[in-house]
Amino acid sequence: MTDFHYSVDADGVATITWDIGNKSMNVLSMEGLRELDAHVETALGDDAVKGVIITSGKPDFAGGMDLNVIAKMKEMAGDQPEQGLFEGIMSMHATLRKIERAGMDPKTLKGGKPIIAALPGTALGIGLEIPLACHRIIAADNARAKIGLPEIMVGIFPGAGGTTRLARKLGAMGAAPFLLEGKLSEPKKAKAAGIIDEVVPGEALLARAKEWVLEAKDADLVKPWDAKGYKMPGGAPYHPAGFMTFVGASAMVNGKTQGVYPAAKALLSAVYEGALVPFDTALRIEARWFTHVLMNPSSSAMIRSLFINKEALEKGANRPAVDDAKVRRLGVLGAGMMGAGIAYVAANAGIEVVLIDAAQEAAEKGKAHAAGILDKGMKRGKVTEATKAEVLDRITPTTDYAALSGCDLVVEAVFEDPRVKAEVTAKAEAVIPADAIFATNTSTLPISDLAKASDRPAQFIGIHFFSPVDKMLLVEIIKGRETGDRAVAKALDFVRQIRKTPIVVNDARFFYANRCIIPYINEGMRLVREGVAPALVENAARLMGMPLGPLQLVDETSLDLGAKIARATRAAMGEAYPDGDVDEVVFWMVEAGRLGRKAAAGFYRYDEKGKRQGLWPGLGEKFPRAEDQPDLITVQHRLMFVQALEAVRALEQGVLTDIREGDVGAILGWGFAPWSGGPFSWLDMLGAGFAVAVCDRLEADCGARFRAPQLLRDMAADGGGFYDTMRDGDKAA
Ligand code: NAD
Repeated sequence: MTDFHYSVDADGVATITWDIGNKSMNVLSMEGLRELDAHVETALGDDAVKGVIITSGKPDFAGGMDLNVIAKMKEMAGDQPEQGLFEGIMSMHATLRKIERAGMDPKTLKGGKPIIAALPGTALGIGLEIPLACHRIIAADNARAKIGLPEIMVGIFPGAGGTTRLARKLGAMGAAPFLLEGKLSEPKKAKAAGIIDEVVPGEALLARAKEWVLEAKDADLVKPWDAKGYKMPGGAPYHPAGFMTFVGASAMVNGKTQGVYPAAKALLSAVYEGALVPFDTALRIEARWFTHVLMNPSSSAMIRSLFINKEALEKGANRPAVDDAKVRRLGVLGAGMMGAGIAYVAANAGIEVVLIDAAQEAAEKGKAHAAGILDKGMKRGKVTEATKAEVLDRITPTTDYAALSGCDLVVEAVFEDPRVKAEVTAKAEAVIPADAIFATNTSTLPISDLAKASDRPAQFIGIHFFSPVDKMLLVEIIKGRETGDRAVAKALDFVRQIRKTPIVVNDARFFYANRCIIPYINEGMRLVREGVAPALVENAARLMGMPLGPLQLVDETSLDLGAKIARATRAAMGEAYPDGDVDEVVFWMVEAGRLGRKAAAGFYRYDEKGKRQGLWPGLGEKFPRAEDQPDLITVQHRLMFVQALEAVRALEQGVLTDIREGDVGAILGWGFAPWSGGPFSWLDMLGAGFAVAVCDRLEADCGARFRAPQLLRDMAADGGGFYDTMRDGDKAA
């Protein structure tokens, strides 16, 4: 395998071109790193070479480290993973430091060869860490290119010197958005921030790089941190200004992460401790913290769910092998909140959309929703007038079902009423082509029941979006009893076109995501009813890394919706309905007019602008605070297990058929503690034996909803975990 190509021109300028065969984007593997090192060695050792350009043979420079490699680094390291990881990371530092020192005399800092990074496009992660070790970074003026260090988003941090170099280049404050938030910038903004040095027209990139190499002087090659008297911009930790930065950053990181993301804390430690010592020691410190993060099960779980498995699902890991089923023309029935959102995301992805509602005015209003989103995009400089016009042009609002005649997929998002849904299904099927697929966006009605209204149940499927459609990344695809492979492939290809992440589940009450989130909300309300302090409930959830406490979540989704779902569930389940005690809270709140955020009154108080204030004290009058409060861990276990056990039951009952979908769906669908990698990863981290012991205790104290599923008991007996049942590329159930 050759990832880097080496050539020297007549003027003695060597070019190392990164261009991996059979891949559209360069990513770094350990073999690639060795090749790069060897080419740098050759250039530095060849007297005929005056300097080096490191560039890419592709439109982009690089997408980053091959995360599959990082995920496996620990395994490759054998019996002493910490040692192996640390040495692997230090070898990366050695190559990059070789580039940075470029053969110069360490005392006089003279005699090095200039090395410049020339970036044609996107440069992410290690794709920016390598340039940061070069003496100059120039980039093509390419507004679509993204430059930055997004590692923190998948639970790690820039561990190939990017953390230490950027902090020393920009100062802790200047580097914070790029390191702690993974902020990406286009080249001109990256230059304004001081990350790169120069932006030139794309066609002049290599010529300008060569010009710089031939003109560079000894002093141009010395990094500020290698020069005498270097001081960190903005001040190191014991400088009065630097002190303030670090105190503030530490508070901010803890506030944002609640201490559950090991990477953010480790990154801050690497910057703080690194700032107190010479550069090479700082790199060793960075490597230690990076090893520490890679050894934490959270980082492997996050990489596995948020990168490897998410991508596998997006690429169609569970797609039936039928021909390409991309959508050419989409029909959307119902232009309300969901229908309008679906029409927008489809049109934005280049699909022609017929948007139908009962009245023309309603259909137009749905289209106006798309215009509103595009206007916001224009204000933020992300959307041009021309794009807005093109996207809107693709949406045809109408009341005329005949307009659906050319649609190969129809998504229905009318009222949640089986009769209305049956009526629009029949009306659409009367005009759409015989091979078209019909999908329903229902959130509660069984797909197999709705399919009875269809003449073609094999072509009938659930495509369940989450609100708000333009923001939520997950789409649940639900197979009814008779749904065929073509319908599944169509739904998956559609989700891929609109760049969201799909999971495919079987038909059952509330499908997967809502099935798990409702018990979480309910557990929060149960705790309140028992007299547990609402602040303890909310904080317990947040401290486990849930984005919203259960009470805040009910306020967002609204209590009247909760009451509606409760009534419908009770009607369907009869005697077996288990949530009467929760309903006591829900119905009391609804009667009191406290419907949640939309009423500016719920479990929380809101000011006149709708901004959330503290918890509502009236709650304590109705459900007085019990004298004995449970400890934090008990509350956390109740809130987390109630979700995770439901996910296990969904797997046991065949609603989920792949734990990857269970984990990815949980994080993207309802924000299940992302640091954990999802409910199955979380249970694996705890260990089935411990999980069962907690369940037994909770079942004894709180009831049957905490009974350990047999699957988990079997695992506890066998000593395995969910992911042990899964090999590379396998389905996981
Ligand atoms: P909504 O009330 O905002 O919109 C429904 C739209 O359907 C209205 O514009 C209505 O005029 C139109 N409509 C009703 N009968 C019609 C008919 N016979 N022909 C054409 N148009 C008709 O509702 P919504 O929140 O957009 O929900 C729509 C569907 O999506 C429901 O099945 C709901 O369960 C599901 N869903 C909702 C959410 C959510 O968070 N709101 C999330 C996922 C799924």
